[in-house]
Amino acid sequence: MIKLTKLVLLFVFTTLISFNISAQMSTIKSTIDKIEAESHLRFLTADELRGRNTGTIELNIAGRYLAEQFRKYGLDPLGDKKGDYTQKVNIIESIPPSKATASLYDKVFDIKLDLGYFDGENGVFEGPIMYLEDLSELETTDLKGKIVVTVLGDPLAALTNIDQVKNLQKMGAIGLIEIYGKGQKFPWSAVAQYLNSKKMKLGEIGSAKVLPRLWVNDTTDVFVKKLKNTGSGATATIKIENSIKKPIESYNIVGKIDGTDPVLKDEYVIMCAHYDHIGVQSGKGLDSIYNGTRDNGIGTTGLINAAKYFGLYPAKRSIIIIALTAEEKGLLGSTFYTENPKVPLEKSVFALNIDNSGYTDVENITLLDTARTNIDKFVYQAAKEVGLGVMGDRIPSEGYYERSDQVSFAKKGVPAINFKMSMAAFDERISTYYHQPNDEFDSVDLDYVYKYWISYIRSAELISNWDQRPYWIPGDKFEEAGNKLYKKKQ
Ligand SMILES: [Zn+2]
Repeated sequence: MIKLTKLVLLFVFTTLISFNISAQMSTIKSTIDKIEAESHLRFLTADELRGRNTGTIELNIAGRYLAEQFRKYGLDPLGDKKGDYTQKVNIIESIPPSKATASLYDKVFDIKLDLGYFDGENGVFEGPIMYLEDLSELETTDLKGKIVVTVLGDPLAALTNIDQVKNLQKMGAIGLIEIYGKGQKFPWSAVAQYLNSKKMKLGEIGSAKVLPRLWVNDTTDVFVKKLKNTGSGATATIKIENSIKKPIESYNIVGKIDGTDPVLKDEYVIMCAHYDHIGVQSGKGLDSIYNGTRDNGIGTTGLINAAKYFGLYPAKRSIIIIALTAEEKGLLGSTFYTENPKVPLEKSVFALNIDNSGYTDVENITLLDTARTNIDKFVYQAAKEVGLGVMGDRIPSEGYYERSDQVSFAKKGVPAINFKMSMAAFDERISTYYHQPNDEFDSVDLDYVYKYWISYIRSAELISNWDQRPYWIPGDKFEEAGNKLYKKKQ
């Protein structure tokens, strides 16, 4: 008797669940029209948008297109101006100086040979050398008018973040020279090429003066030895000429869909994807346009699809959809958003990012990363409902988790994952298209991409409707940041 009842109950329960699942999934499928989605993807990755490079009018056209799709599907605008979806991201393009030198003792380092420009204003900066051997002694060190010299990678004195550099400036230092000494991982030529090329960073023209910061090459250790013997006191001179900073006009696109649950609606699930790519680059034959269909036209279209679906069928939690700019320039759009969120970050309980290099098969999706947060089961369920499998990070040595926008949210404590197309390895199946001009619409398997889009929406729906809070798995690298953000007790 009992057994039978249990069986019947189990039967009813299972039937109900499977009925439920197919009902939700068929609603998603009937809402997301394949041809309509295809047309978004074709537009965003067309040659006419010229690879959507940050700072170009074509990227801003793509952004406007996204904003107006968000409007069409009824998202609440969360942009800077009333009624709009665009959040201005303050980006500066920094063009390195045509001339720069650093004179230390009898040695003159030159940008043409052995000096790398990190940052700093034009001018001549002269002052006594302060050789910093131990950061912990900083508080008792007088830095006024001094040029700080450190050895990169020095276990006691290596500066590891921008706040430490700003701190030196606050304490009165007028320059920072870091010595690229023995035992460094990369050849100097590669380092110099990177440092002495133009790049973009967050910031505004006319804000506080930036401390001159230079790297000098001393891989033979000659200079380090001299520094250790002679120490501080001698005069150093830094000269920077003709470095240029230009403001870049670029935007995140942000919209919101209110949740339906009276309590859970105060919690927000973020769906995001970067919509920029790397533009047009010469030297690749006739086709010089990097269309970025996989990276990240597909992700961007995934956001439009999500806007359409959740606009019609809101979830219990509120959803914020963000198309991010300047990911390819160093996660600038997501870093800016997490510094300037449109809804307080402590109310944002999860971030579900889409970013793709390519795909290695059409049977799976990749969850980057599994066993990081407690939502894995929903991604498995969503994938299964469209007939796809799930794999975790197969190439952890590459550090992919830390190389896309999810990490900007994670660093602030918001549990975040990257919902990727299958990536079983970084082999020719990926490298053929990754940051190549032939990452084009014509070379993608649209049937697979459609399943991937659908499972992205379904994952977001399951997470947003969950009666429990998405969170970091205990012991995760970012759990502590999460505890701090949400003020949880340990
Ligand atoms: Zn990307």
